[in-house]
Amino acid sequence: MSEVLNIQHLSVSYGAIAALKDVSITVQKGSITAILGANGGGKSTLLKTISGLIPPKSGRILFDGLDISKVSADKITDMGIIHVPEGRQIFGELTVLENLMIGAFTAKEGPVNKAYLRGEFLQRYSDREEVVLSRKEMIANNLLRVYEYFPVLQERKQQQAVSLSGGEQQMLAIGRALMSTPQMLILDEPSLGLAPLIVKSIFEIIADLNKTIGLTVLIVEQNALQTLQIADYAYVLQVGRIVKSDKASVLAKDTTLVEAYLGK
Ligand code: ATP
Repeated sequence: MSEVLNIQHLSVSYGAIAALKDVSITVQKGSITAILGANGGGKSTLLKTISGLIPPKSGRILFDGLDISKVSADKITDMGIIHVPEGRQIFGELTVLENLMIGAFTAKEGPVNKAYLRGEFLQRYSDREEVVLSRKEMIANNLLRVYEYFPVLQERKQQQAVSLSGGEQQMLAIGRALMSTPQMLILDEPSLGLAPLIVKSIFEIIADLNKTIGLTVLIVEQNALQTLQIADYAYVLQVGRIVKSDKASVLAKDTTLVEAYLGK
């Protein structure tokens, strides 16, 4: 595995309030990396800084070896870092399909892994070793993928997004992100406010996306135990500092973790 994201000594402040202090993390390509921590630890601030919404006070953020710490949010999206924010921010008055097509805006032509192909594309390119999809094909294939993962979005494609349940809206937010063929998906508390069964199914889909198409995922969660089940590596953020990090399988066995750091 190679390193896709490398955050070095990152500090971020809101005026006099230091939200992140000397945070260093790495994300391996094709991994699920989790940032855990109680309320106010700085998790959302970290994600917003990676995606260019908040400028760092000091430190560097390298994406594929390139320093993106001063790059604008729209350019970072264009580079393939797609942020699914807390609270989802879908467009309620637009239909499900229109929301998905907004995600497709930054999709580009490019090479894809054969395992990524669906439907007609699977047949069209079955004899090829390497497949390069046009932008139009990429969007059509992404839509087939999204509908396969979230059949409810296909059933409701003409419905206004506001009429979806909380879980379905979270699915739509993830589906919209997938429409752009992300290099790295950044998820801010996807389980927030959802019923346990829905959380389970969303986590299963995240794990499946990672496994089948090798999608790199950086996920922020308060729901530590469930997140550790799907993550490869995790960091614990407490009052702006990384206080612990290890393989998820090791942290999952750490009986003091939740009590000591996660405030539950
Ligand atoms: P939560 O799960 O509650 O969102 P979090 O771990 O994501 O928590 P952040 O939202 O990143 O934490 O907040 C980190 C710190 O920065 C907190 O002390 C918070 O009050 C402060 N903070 C966050 N956003 C702002 C802002 N826009 N202006 C000032 N302070 C802020």
